[in-house]
This record gives sequence, C-alpha cells and structure tokens, in this order.
Amino acid sequence: MVAKGDMVYAWAADADVLKKGECGGAITALQQYALKSGMVDAVLAVKKGQDIYDAVPTLVTNPADLAETAGSLHCGTLLLSKVVKDYLDSNKTARLGVTVKGCDTMGLIELAKRNAVDLDRLLLLGVNCGGSVSPVLARKMIRDKFEVDPDLVHKEEIDKGQFIIEYEGGHAGIKIDELEDEGYGRRSNCRRCLYKVPRQADLACGNWGVIGERAGKATFVEVCSEKGANLLDAAVAAGAVKTDAANPKGIEIRGKVEGAMLNLGNKWRKKNFEALASDLWGTIGRETGRCIKCYSCIENCPVCFPVAEEFKGNSRMVTSGEVPPNPMFHLRRFAHISDSCINCGQCEELCPMDIPLALFSHAIRTEGDSAFESKLGKAPYAN
Ligand code: FAD
Ligand code: SF4
Ligand code: SF4
Ligand code: SF4
Repeated sequence: MVAKGDMVYAWAADADVLKKGECGGAITALQQYALKSGMVDAVLAVKKGQDIYDAVPTLVTNPADLAETAGSLHCGTLLLSKVVKDYLDSNKTARLGVTVKGCDTMGLIELAKRNAVDLDRLLLLGVNCGGSVSPVLARKMIRDKFEVDPDLVHKEEIDKGQFIIEYEGGHAGIKIDELEDEGYGRRSNCRRCLYKVPRQADLACGNWGVIGERAGKATFVEVCSEKGANLLDAAVAAGAVKTDAANPKGIEIRGKVEGAMLNLGNKWRKKNFEALASDLWGTIGRETGRCIKCYSCIENCPVCFPVAEEFKGNSRMVTSGEVPPNPMFHLRRFAHISDSCINCGQCEELCPMDIPLALFSHAIRTEGDSAFESKLGKAPYAN
C-alpha cells in the first residue's frame, strides 16, 4: 500500500508497453488499468503524428490503443488544459485520465478556479518536465548544429543536460546550455519555468532519480494524492504495474536535479526580465505593432477564457478593420491576466507574428507577485 508522499520505481508488467514506454511504460500501464477498471471513461494522451515533431493530443477509450501513446515527445509544445475542458463540456458526466506536464496542470487549476473544469472528474498523471522545444526550431537546430537531416531522426530526448538525437546511422548529443546560448534549445518560457515536478497532479512521474539496474527501465513515481495512491495500489494488485522501493540515493539525486533546474529557471527569469525592465512598455508597444488581430493568443490562453469574446470583433476592446489594433487591446489583455499567467507559452508559440507575448505577460505577472512577496521577505524570482 502506498500513501501520499511515497516514492517508488514503477514499470509496466506488459512486455509491449514496457518496451514502447519512455522509461518502462508505467504511465501507459496505469492509464490502461484506469480505463479497464472503469476508474475513468476515457484517457487523453499524446501520440506521434506525421513525425517526432508532431505531437497530437489523442482521446482513447480502448485500453489496447494506449500503447500507441507511450513515449515522450519533447518537441510537442501543446497545452492540454482547454482540450480537457472541451471534452468535459461535451461529455457531462464522464471522467477523464490525462497525462499532464506542469503547465497542463496549472492551466487546469486556473480553469477550475473559473468553474470551467471539475477536477474531481479528472485523474492526472503528471510528468516531470525539463522543457519542450518548438518543432520549427528543433528542425533547424538538428540541421544546423547536429548537421543531421531532421527527417532521419526517429528519437529525441533531453537527458543529463543534453539534447540527444537518434537517427539513421547514429546518435549525438549537445549540451542544452551551449544550444541555448546560441538561441536554440528549449522554448523561452520553458527556460523560465519553475514547475518541474507536477505535485498538484495525482502522481508525479519522471526519469530523474532512477538509478542502478532500473535506470532507463522504470519511472520514478511520487504519490501526490489519495486518488493517485488508490490507482497505483489497485494497478499493482491487478498485476498491471510492478513497483520497487525508490533507491534513497536516487531520491537524493532527484532532489538535487530538481533544485538545479529551479536555479536555472531563476537565472533565465533574471536574464529575460532584467533585459526588459529598462523599457518594458516601449518594447511591448513596438513588438505588438506587428499584430494582425488573429486572436490566436486569446483563443489558446487558459487564463483569458472567461472574457475572451470581449476582446474580439467590433467590441469595446477593438475596432473592426483596424490593424494593428489600438495598443490598449494588448495592454488590457495583459492587465486582465496579470495575476494568473501560468507562463505556458501558448500565446507566444502560436502568434503568427512572433510577438514575445508570454515573455511580456510572465514579466508582468512576476513583477506583480514580487510586489506582494517583498512584503513577505521573499527574494525576487523565488517562485
Ligand atoms: P510512458 O508510459 O511512455 O507514457 C508517457 C506519457 O506521456 C504518455 O501518456 C504520452 O502520451 C505522454 N506524452 C508524451 N509527450 C507528451 C507531451 N509533450 N505532453 C504531454 N504528454 C505527453 N522526466 C524527468 O524526470 N525529467 C525531465 O526533465 C522530463 N522532461 C520531460 C519533458 C516532456 C516534454 C515530457 C513529455 C516528459 C518529460 N519527463 C521528464 C518524463 C519522462 O520523459 C517520462 O514521461 C516519464 O518518466 C514516464 O515514463 P513512462 O515510461 O512511465 O511513460
Ligand atoms: Fe514543461 Fe514548464 Fe515548458 Fe510546460 S512550461 S512544457 S511544464 S518546462
Ligand atoms: Fe499562457 Fe500566454 Fe496565457 Fe500566460 S498569457 S497563460 S503564457 S497563453
Ligand atoms: Fe496579434 Fe499575435 Fe495575438 Fe494574433 S496572436 S492577435 S497577431 S498578438
């Protein structure tokens, strides 16, 4: 029996899932069990589309189909929160299992705060997340830095501070620091992200801390809720998942890696925000001057959700036919999300004019937070 706070190594009992899984397939096996046993009615996971740069959210109701969703896609820059909302809206009583990164989890919590998602209907299997890479930049990086045709790459991973590719004819890795100093590597919001282990999910799963003979063949699972504990216990009892005690040295290593990632995130926050600070509003004015009013930033923001319509069409925020829109369109949007931006990067990722929107909203959010936190004696960039 496990309880909230416990940490174990876990892997799939089924040989196919064990092989296809990123680190032993525990997540896929747990989702299969949740579906088979009726704990959930469907599972939302992610599978490879056209190639490894194409991560496709996939709804599964047949447990056997889940094997196709095993594995991690680091060039998938998607956010699942609104997909979950759409599913729950159109399936009024259904319960859903979802694999979530930290940003997916935060997006769901923001939607729940706005009564748009019922967390009780969700079973959240969290994955630790060191970051994701934009598909377009990933292709360019592989061509320019690795000197490999991106279409020949069949596997990518981020491990021990390196971006690693496997391709027809070999494998290669380059340090993330080196790539990022040259403008490649993880998305800029991911560099600033401090939510590496999603402890607000039911289970937090990852490869950090798996050492010894299980390294690469098992997932480190931190139990984060009673729901997560029940799922793990039931799946083990049914023979779907196998577990072992986490190695104490592995627990220590995982803690150190998480700490190092948080320091790195704070370093990027400092670097990005200090570069903006001298002329924040001037920079916002110049950059948003390219806006073509497509509203993608609003449509895809998990926080903009309740008032999105007020920003569109011929509303009090914008005038029909006016491009770029009056700068107040952007300033009002930043003001309305200023206390809730989760730094998921969707607005920036999906802006056709490459306006660094997430940087702006994250900087404003962090500035607002630090005004309160300085009163509590917290250092800037501490969360
Ligand atoms: P599997 O059984 O292979 O299941 C993996 C699950 O992840 C599947 O449900 C799949 O659909 C889903 N998935 C794949 N890609 C995505 C995506 N882009 N977004 C949402 N869900 C997805 N662990 C660490 O300890 N440190 C890290 O730095 C780290 N970074 C990660 C970054 C990303 C973008 C992802 C997706 C995962 C990361 N992980 C990290 C978790 C790790 O790669 C494994 O997913 C985890 O150990 C579980 O392994 P498994 O074999 O049990 O999972
Ligand atoms: Fe991972 Fe954070 Fe980037 Fe989301 S924002 S993909 S949790 S690093
Ligand atoms: Fe995500 Fe951008 Fe919305 Fe912030 S403003 S929550 S980064 S989409
Ligand atoms: Fe303007 Fe970019 Fe937002 Fe589209 S996504 S409305 S171009 S800022």
